[in-house]
Amino acid sequence: MPIRAAVFTAPGQPLTIEEFERPQLQTGEVLVRVDCCTVCGSDLRSLRGDRAVPTPTILGHEILGTVIEVCETPPCDLHGQPVVVGDRMTWGVAASCGTCDRCQQGIPQKCRSLFKYGHEPSDKHPLSGGLAECCHLRVGTPIVKLGDELSDLEACPASCATATVAAAFRVAGDIQDRSVLIFGAGMLGLTAAAMAKVQGAESVIVCDLDPQRLLQASRFGATHTLSWIDDSEEMSSAVRSIAGDDGVDVVLEMSGANSAIDVSPRLLKIGGRFVLVGSVAPSGTVPFDPEQIVRRLLRIEGIHNYTPTDLAIAVDFLTAHHQDFPFESLVARTFTLDEVNDAITFAQDTRPCRVAIVPNLN
Ligand SMILES: [Zn+2]
Ligand SMILES: [Zn+2]
Repeated sequence: MPIRAAVFTAPGQPLTIEEFERPQLQTGEVLVRVDCCTVCGSDLRSLRGDRAVPTPTILGHEILGTVIEVCETPPCDLHGQPVVVGDRMTWGVAASCGTCDRCQQGIPQKCRSLFKYGHEPSDKHPLSGGLAECCHLRVGTPIVKLGDELSDLEACPASCATATVAAAFRVAGDIQDRSVLIFGAGMLGLTAAAMAKVQGAESVIVCDLDPQRLLQASRFGATHTLSWIDDSEEMSSAVRSIAGDDGVDVVLEMSGANSAIDVSPRLLKIGGRFVLVGSVAPSGTVPFDPEQIVRRLLRIEGIHNYTPTDLAIAVDFLTAHHQDFPFESLVARTFTLDEVNDAITFAQDTRPCRVAIVPNLN
C-alpha cells in the first residue's frame, strides 16, 4: 500500500497529496503511523515563503504517532527502552549524528549533519514530515514514549513548542520565587507561563497585544497580564508596578517583536537573564546600550531547537500537568490529510495557537 503525504512545492501554492513507497528500514530506523501533527508557526512561515525550506518537502515537525515497523536492531527511547511495534510516541524535531564536534559539545540541535523533520527534500528523503500518513524515523532521533493519560492534542506540541520552552527554562536558571516576564502569548508564551507557575515563580507576567490571548494567559498560570505599551518608559513603570522597583528576574522573549527586545534590558533586575526565543525570522537589528549590560550584569542567551533532555522534560511536564492547564484548547480545529489546505487557510486567517492534522482518521 502506498503512503500518502501532503507535499509543499512552492510558497503560495496549495499542498498536493502524493503517494510514496513504503520505505525499506535500515539499522536503527522506525516507521511510524502519524496519529497527529500540529501545524507550527514555522510551517506557516515556510508556506508564506518567509523561511527557507528545500522543496519539494513534507512539512510538519510536531508529530505524534504509533510504531508500525521497526528494523532488526531497533533504537531505544530517551529512557533506554527499546522501541517496539505499537509504541505511541513523539520524537525530536531533528536527528543528529552524535559524533561531530557540536554533538560532542552538547549542542546536538546544531549537529553538522542535522536531519530535520518537516524540513528535508522529499525526493531525497521521503516521508520525513508530519503531514503524511507515516513518518520514517532516522538513526539519531530522540524518541519519547507517551503514556495513555495524555491525549493526542495535549501531547502533539511537545516536540517543538513545549521542548523549546523547556530549553528556555534550562538557560533561565532557577526561577523559584522569582519574577518572570513573558513577551508573546502564543503557543510558546502560554506554555512558558504554565511552566513558570509550576516551577514556583512568584510572579508570571505575560505581555501581548491581543486581549484574547491575555485572557488565555490567565488560564495558563499568568499571575499578571499586561497589554503591550508602545512607550518604553511607560512599559518600564508598568512592569515595576507589578514586580517591584528593581524589575524582573527573567525575561522570556517569545514574540519575536524587536520592540519587545529593545525594551527588555531595562525591565530586568541587576543579574537578570534575558532569554531570546521568538526571533526566528530576519527582522533587522535592535540597538542596545552595552554599558547597561555590563554594569547591570545582565545575561542574554538565545535558544533555537533544543536538546533531547529538553524533550523528555517537556513530555514529563505535560504528563504531570495536563489537567492543570487547558492545553487541548490551544488546538482550535482538527482536519484530515485531504483537508490540509483548508487547515492552512484556517490557521492563516484566524491565527489560533495550533490546528491539527489527523492523517489516518478513517
Ligand atoms: Zn515548530
Ligand atoms: Zn553531530
